[in-house]
Amino acid sequence: MLMMASCGEEKEIAKNTLVEEIKNQPIPKQYGFNLDNFKVVQDTVKWGDSFGELMLKNHVDYPKVVTISENYKDTFDVRKIKVGKPYLILKAKDSLEKAQVFIYENDRINYTVVDLRDTAVAYKGKKNVKYIEREVAGTIKNSLSMELDSLGVDYAVTINLSEIYAWTIDFFRLEKGDKFKIIYDEKYINDSIYAGSGAIKAAFFEHKGNPIYAFPYVSDSIKNIQEYYDQDANNLRSTFLRAPIKFGYRLSSRYNLRRRIAYYGYKVRPHKGTDYAAPIGTPIVATADGTVTESTRRGGNGKYVKIRHNSMYSTQYLHMKAQKVRKGEFVRQGDVIGWVGMTGNTGGPHVCYRFWKNGRQVDPLREKLPSAEPIADSLQTTYFDHVETLKFQLDCLKFESPEAQENLLTLDQEDGITQN
Ligand SMILES: [Zn+2]
Repeated sequence: MLMMASCGEEKEIAKNTLVEEIKNQPIPKQYGFNLDNFKVVQDTVKWGDSFGELMLKNHVDYPKVVTISENYKDTFDVRKIKVGKPYLILKAKDSLEKAQVFIYENDRINYTVVDLRDTAVAYKGKKNVKYIEREVAGTIKNSLSMELDSLGVDYAVTINLSEIYAWTIDFFRLEKGDKFKIIYDEKYINDSIYAGSGAIKAAFFEHKGNPIYAFPYVSDSIKNIQEYYDQDANNLRSTFLRAPIKFGYRLSSRYNLRRRIAYYGYKVRPHKGTDYAAPIGTPIVATADGTVTESTRRGGNGKYVKIRHNSMYSTQYLHMKAQKVRKGEFVRQGDVIGWVGMTGNTGGPHVCYRFWKNGRQVDPLREKLPSAEPIADSLQTTYFDHVETLKFQLDCLKFESPEAQENLLTLDQEDGITQN
């Protein structure tokens, strides 16, 4: 605990500068060869290029091309070379400049070597990948992707983060001033070439003043499924609560498109809501995190609240005695948003719960909603121990302000490092 007494102030700057320096280093290509021993041609596959032609043009004997095409299909399918992919030809350092090795980059990490020096052979190789941890923090001014881009963070991280928080935060409706912190890995090949981002190790997102942490954790070691949980060990991929009332209710009327009511002369009056009868004044809770889009009184609905959860789902709660939340407010799952009443068209105290999917009302009790298992009680102590250091690391991260950026620039210039 003593070790965590204070945050390392200089650590963040130092780490990010290191990442910048590494990114800007010249690119050594190895692939298991000493490239100095060859005349190296580096190019990308063009339209109309074929492995055969490239080789014949570089004086490789035809039988060797056939050997590779016929015998090494599993390792290197010559018909599947793709336009735009980088390749290297290592040629002899003599007057003939005959191709000796062909290296095709399948992706940034994996490559295929065709060695033509002796009997033609093909094999696969993999570059050394080093993971470097990176920390970023920022405040939303325009959009998350713009903020992360300005910090030099891979777009894949934006996607990852929005997936982690998909059920908690509506990333289409972020607020100016929302804050984020991310700890993630960046992959580097041969210690120098950036090869994309790795998994997010910990994150923090403050939406409308509500802080939500995210920590990856395998709570089921048998299934080995990793999920993200918050600071209270709640699964972030949280599904909707089964009912908008926590206890003491009675399911009085289900969603029914062919309901007939005596009051209306047994005519079909579809009921697109689910009614939960409960005494007047019983708290009504938000069934999932979201933003209040309506909190008003209108006709038969009486006093009601509508919450938008993400681009797909919204929920609505009718006949309230009174609302507790206002339009624009961000609410978390289980927050009280109002109380059971009898406003609008209703024969008794109940909440009519309406569930919207892609703008249409559906039956929430029949919807297949993503399941989210919370961390088992027996594992919670282990979980909190596990995330303690990560949470501390996040808490130490400072949000970048324009002044901080300027300071960093001055510091770097004094040290003679060019800022890119
Ligand atoms: Zn109803």
